[in-house]
Amino acid sequence: MGMNTQGRPTTPGAVSPATEGRTFTGHRGLDHEEPLIFEAGSLSKSGVDLPEPKPVASRLNGLERQGPIGLPGLTEPEAMRHYVRLSQRNYAIDTGLYPLGSCTMKHNPRLNEKMARLPGFSDIHPLQPQQTVQGALQLMEMLAAYLLELTGMKAVALSPKAGAHGELCGMLAIKAAHEAAGSKRDVVLVPDSAHGTNPATAAFMGYSVRSIPAREDGTVSVEAVRAALGPDVAAIMLTNPNTCGLFEPEVVEIAKAVHEAGAYFYCDGANFNAIVGKVRPGELGVDAMHINLHKTFSTPHGGGGPGAGPVVLSEALAKYAPVPFIVRDGDTLRLVEDAADAEGQGKTPFGRLTAFHGQMGMFVRALTYMMSHGADGMRQASEDAVLAANYVRVGLRDLFSQPFGDKPCMHEVLFDDKFLKDTGVTTLDFAKAMIDEGYHPMTVYFPLVVHGAMLVEPTESESKESLDLFIATLRDLAEAAKRGDIERFKQAPRFAPRRRLDETKAAREPKLRWRPEAVQKEAAE
Ligand SMILES: *Cc1c(COP(=O)(O)O)cnc(C)c1O
Repeated sequence: MGMNTQGRPTTPGAVSPATEGRTFTGHRGLDHEEPLIFEAGSLSKSGVDLPEPKPVASRLNGLERQGPIGLPGLTEPEAMRHYVRLSQRNYAIDTGLYPLGSCTMKHNPRLNEKMARLPGFSDIHPLQPQQTVQGALQLMEMLAAYLLELTGMKAVALSPKAGAHGELCGMLAIKAAHEAAGSKRDVVLVPDSAHGTNPATAAFMGYSVRSIPAREDGTVSVEAVRAALGPDVAAIMLTNPNTCGLFEPEVVEIAKAVHEAGAYFYCDGANFNAIVGKVRPGELGVDAMHINLHKTFSTPHGGGGPGAGPVVLSEALAKYAPVPFIVRDGDTLRLVEDAADAEGQGKTPFGRLTAFHGQMGMFVRALTYMMSHGADGMRQASEDAVLAANYVRVGLRDLFSQPFGDKPCMHEVLFDDKFLKDTGVTTLDFAKAMIDEGYHPMTVYFPLVVHGAMLVEPTESESKESLDLFIATLRDLAEAAKRGDIERFKQAPRFAPRRRLDETKAAREPKLRWRPEAVQKEAAE
């Protein structure tokens, strides 16, 4: 049967009931097949009508582009349909439970969106005179104060644009402090269970990474940290609660040992949502910690929007915070933008991390979340997140296996693949079967310290009914695997727009660029 590059039959009548439920268009009811924008567009079309530009004298010394730029031209309705159709193929927290461990996919209250769209926040420019944006600066000052209150720390850098960017910021402050003290240290300690961004940040900065093994129970022991400490160690990067969903019981002793060795304690605070209003990281001995506003304080992320990763710093590191930061001159707020100005404030910033001041829209959303919840509401959100994870744990514990024994977890619950032993079903198969049931899979194969890991973070925003259905679904899948209903897993996803991809081939022969020739060649084959 003739097919074009989008897998569509090219001739009417090519569709018969025998062709796997195919339709002539490739669409399936409301589920529209959609070509790449490059395939759909053509240079002859445009959504706008612009006057011919006046000829200008080139100053590029012959380096100007000769051929067309190759952007796909679409009319406005075509562009509209393309992106709306793509958006409808996306799994989102707005469509269902999204149990992606460590990512905290919680509901994003619509009030946050309304506030972020106020013209006083959304229509301002970072180069506008500061006198004209006093309200925005005041919001940033308030957010900073709330973050310091919640964490018990001394200074905050708002500009980092994500968690990983925040790690870089905090570690640069640590590096600056060592340099100021004339101390040469080139090792960073990172536990085995850490998020990949931790060793990546350390390595990116030129540190060598010394890994610390986890204990039998999934936590880090102070003895293991002591054994790894030495005069060459600049810092430890520790996640708490850790990526196994457990609170590090020896965190205070670890902080003490690290400080005694002249090193600093960087805490990966991406999981702050489990302890907001319960524990202040500053009181645990943390020196630097990023806070993923997009996780803990509910702003759309993960394909749905940008992040923001403010970093809070202890007394010892506060003066190394990057520019810009906000100061108050009487009733007026202003941004300190350069080293000389900062020095006048008694600070020695390590430099600047981004062109401007950070993600304003995220700041508005996060502060709205904080103010609408209040102190008691934020504490309850943490408690409910932990309750929801434990509800899932207890609902599944007789069928699933937990690597560190059957004991309470924090905001996420970790299972391993022992319960799938001898079933022929892998963690990946299990995750794909969840897609057919209408769920985004949990985080799989992370943390690396657990074989076939499945990390479930239901978050506080799911109702009991929603959690009950989720638990019942996972129980049904586990029972199907144990009974030998392999097809349900090996064939999954059966009902997604795309079936299972050849991930090995994609990794070995990645196609990183779309080229028209490639498509033509494939079509001819
Ligand atoms: C999400 C996460 C990060 C990285 O945050 P990004 O905003 O994605 O850069 C780092 N550590 C942990 C534990 C995380 O969950």
